[in-house]
Amino acid sequence: MGGAMGHNDHMEDDGFNDFLQEVLNGESLEKATEGITKLVIDKGVNSLSEKQRYVFKRDVLDVYTIDGCTRCESPVPWSEMYAATDNGGLCNYCWHMSEKIKHE
Ligand SMILES: [Zn+2]
Repeated sequence: MGGAMGHNDHMEDDGFNDFLQEVLNGESLEKATEGITKLVIDKGVNSLSEKQRYVFKRDVLDVYTIDGCTRCESPVPWSEMYAATDNGGLCNYCWHMSEKIKHE
């Protein structure tokens, strides 16, 4: 693996492929990026060419991942990442807390 992708050293962790699948399901990727993302799900990031990696990072990782929860600053697990980029950068816990406050 090696740490070429920065904080995404845990590429093979459970949840990463599911996260990518969620991104795909969102249908907001360009065709080329979609193909690259499918390739990552199928064969892993290491199967990408340098150019594909660049696109994958720029159009997927940089867009759909955050460094930590904007409220509690905890790292956000892959299983919560896609939702977090959609709800303003909150981990699951903080998102539920903020929803609760809204409805009280
Ligand atoms: Zn949080």
